[in-house]
Formats: sequence, structure tokens, C-alpha cells
Amino acid sequence: MAHSYDDQNIFAKILRGDIPNDTVLETEHTLAFRDIQPQAPLHVLVIPKGPYVCFDHFAQEASDAEIVDYVRAVGEVCRMEGLEEDGWRLISNAGAHGVQEVPHLHVHVLAGRRLGRMLQPA
Ligand code: 5GP
Repeated sequence: MAHSYDDQNIFAKILRGDIPNDTVLETEHTLAFRDIQPQAPLHVLVIPKGPYVCFDHFAQEASDAEIVDYVRAVGEVCRMEGLEEDGWRLISNAGAHGVQEVPHLHVHVLAGRRLGRMLQPA
């Protein structure tokens, strides 16, 4: 599947500094910041700085350095936020069936309460 990246998406604007964000962690290739509409007591979005639409696009086209940095950053956010003991959930939505609203790869880190069933009815 070919992926075309829309550089007007909201996370691209955050990365350019056009829109402010509440940063949790920034590394060479990754930015983590708090979701503007949290769905749990802790809701952090982790995004690569590169122009990747979704996980598949990133897995296919990102460099090894970007992938390592990104995966380590997701783990680091969980550690920094003290989630080891009670746990967390990672979600990455893609496309129409995934109900992805922002077409720039992001992993949601959700925690801070028992999150209930994994999926709700559509
Ligand atoms: P998706 O539905 O694409 O998986 O998730 C997009 C997420 O981005 C949503 O949870 C939404 O609340 C969040 N979001 C949308 N616009 C902004 C924004 O301007 N700033 C921040 N921090 N989060 C945003």
C-alpha cells in the first residue's frame, strides 16, 4: 500500500512548532506529549518526527535509528510516568476501520485506571 503524507495534519504542525504541546519526552527522532482530550488519567501520544502516516508506513520506510529511538521512547514514557506497577495500554489506530483521526503515526499510551474491555461496539 502506498502512503502519502499530508504535511498539514495537526501533528505536523505541532512538530513544526506552529501549535503548542505539553511535551513529556523529546528525543532525536521522537516526540511524546499529552493528548488534548485525555481518555484516561494518563493519556500520552508518542509520534516519530519523520513524516509517516501509520505503523505500517513507519515499519517499511523509517531508518533503523528512527525505529529504535521510537520504540525506546514509548517504553521510556511508561517508565517516566511510573506505570510499571499498575500497567498501561498502547493503541495505534490506522485508516478508516481503525478510526484514525490524525494521519501521522501515533501510539496512545493510556493508564491511570482500570481501562475495561479492549474494544467498545462500533
Ligand atoms: P486518533 O483518533 O487519530 O488515533 O487520535 C488522535 C488523537 O489526537 C486524539 O486522541 C485527539 O484527542 C488528539 N489530538 C487532536 N488534536 C490535538 C492537538 O492539537 N493536540 C494534542 N495534544 N492532541 C490532539
